[in-house]
Amino acid sequence: MLIVQKFGGTSVGDLERIQNVANRVSETKKAGNDIVVVVSAMSGETNKLVAYAEHLSKNPARAEMDMLLSSGERVTAALLAIALSEMGFPAVSMTGRKAGIVTDNIHTKARIEVINPVAMQEAIKEGKIVVVAGFQGVSQDGNVTTLGRGGSDLSAVAIAGALKADLCEIYTDVSGIFTTDPRIEPKAKKLNEISYDEMLELASLGAKVLQNRSVELAKKLNVNLVTRTSFSDEEGTLITKEENIMEKPLVSGIALDKNQARVSLVGVKDRPGIASDIFTKLSNNNVNIDMIIQNVGHDGKANVDFTVPVGDLNDAKKVMDVFLKESEVDEVSYDENICKVSIVGVGMKSHTGVAAKAFSIMASENININMISTSEIKISMIIAEKYAELSVRALHNAYELDK
Ligand code: ADP
Ligand code: ASP
Ligand code: MG
Repeated sequence: MLIVQKFGGTSVGDLERIQNVANRVSETKKAGNDIVVVVSAMSGETNKLVAYAEHLSKNPARAEMDMLLSSGERVTAALLAIALSEMGFPAVSMTGRKAGIVTDNIHTKARIEVINPVAMQEAIKEGKIVVVAGFQGVSQDGNVTTLGRGGSDLSAVAIAGALKADLCEIYTDVSGIFTTDPRIEPKAKKLNEISYDEMLELASLGAKVLQNRSVELAKKLNVNLVTRTSFSDEEGTLITKEENIMEKPLVSGIALDKNQARVSLVGVKDRPGIASDIFTKLSNNNVNIDMIIQNVGHDGKANVDFTVPVGDLNDAKKVMDVFLKESEVDEVSYDENICKVSIVGVGMKSHTGVAAKAFSIMASENININMISTSEIKISMIIAEKYAELSVRALHNAYELDK
């Protein structure tokens, strides 16, 4: 078999753990498999590098951030290759560029355009274990790019797809996908399997156990994805097609995203095309918009509220300053103390009353809901951040996810 194994930050958090990973990888190799390992930076390393840059500048160039942040993964890749070679298992580490991962040039959140896996394939043919530095690629013009926070998951899935691997295993610090973040609700239950679509919603709505774009790609390329722990042999969670799943619970999980900010526009000039102007300009500046609400305000002017990831807030502010200056908008305010709590389940497609129950739980906890959005398989609510954990536990309990 050809297996891609990805080890996250905690799994390679210190030298002892890197040795532990080397032992695990060597076992898979001894069993007769070909392996490509994808590694993250040691835990805390990427945040440390971000802090270094922010100490020196409020607004460091994104291309320099990529140069900086991509270094964390290279350290781990080289150390793991050294450890494996020392154990008598020939190994070679590769940067994203060497592994042939070509991206667009949107620094700090680049998209993979194509993978040229020749170097990886040649090394595998020579019997080597390939260790790839995750989270990074190279743009057509030769610059280092990174794939967005948590992006080593995406590296692993994309490589598994390009090499047509039999399996892609994501090793992390929890034993699989749980009904909610087990750090928030210790009663959370591990799922044996979950559909790509539900996992994609959970990941997009804040469950950082898998980066959302990695799940999207796994679905598209039909990659067999398993999430499991690097600290024991416990079986993990299989992420697969909906039709392969036996039990379809009404609600599969609750996700929490604290990384959200609300932008409130008061007195938006009432003219055709204003919404298009605002949101096109935001999109051109790579600001991701999530929920949008528009109300009629005073004097025929409208009020518009929308949410963005906290990381995009500075860019959003710059865009809004332009509309303020041109008097297209009277006032803008920003609120970072919000969060989004979401309920996900394919069973919602065929059942009513799931949303009503969520709203009544929030009411009984005296939590005010600021914004709501729904799709076929999810309900999301924006609430004050101070109620984040409380609401997750209340909803988990109400839908009996601990049973
Ligand atoms: P890694 O460094 O291995 O990539 P991450 O920290 O990115 O690991 O993701 C693992 C973490 O995701 C867990 O420690 C857990 O707190 C969190 N998490 C959030 N939601 C879930 C969930 N539904 N199931 C499992 N873990 C979750
Ligand atoms: N080291 C990067 C991050 O912390 C990528 C990853 O771990 O997947 O976001
Ligand atoms: Mg991660």
